[in-house]
Amino acid sequence: MIHYSCDRCKRRLDGQHEVRFSVRIDAQAALEPHNLHEAAEDRDYLDELQELIEEAAEAAGGDAALGLPIQRQFDLCRDCYVKFLRNPLGEPAAPVGFSSN
Ligand SMILES: [Zn+2]
Repeated sequence: MIHYSCDRCKRRLDGQHEVRFSVRIDAQAALEPHNLHEAAEDRDYLDELQELIEEAAEAAGGDAALGLPIQRQFDLCRDCYVKFLRNPLGEPAAPVGFSSN
């Protein structure tokens, strides 16, 4: 039997008695192709893709790894999943007394 633990708080998840929440993240640099109108019959899409990736890497400060799409999956316990839903980007908590409405 596979044992899971929460990727956030590291608590062992009891697969028999509690639900495991799976969060998948697809992240990638989003660029608007600025040369769409230059469509030619013999476009080399692979070349263009490579170019876009390089542009994305450049836009990300020259870090090539940031130009590549990533997929990650996390297993979370219920508590951590609720916290994730409330603050998926891990923003700092709002100051006390701050009203969000
Ligand atoms: Zn947890």
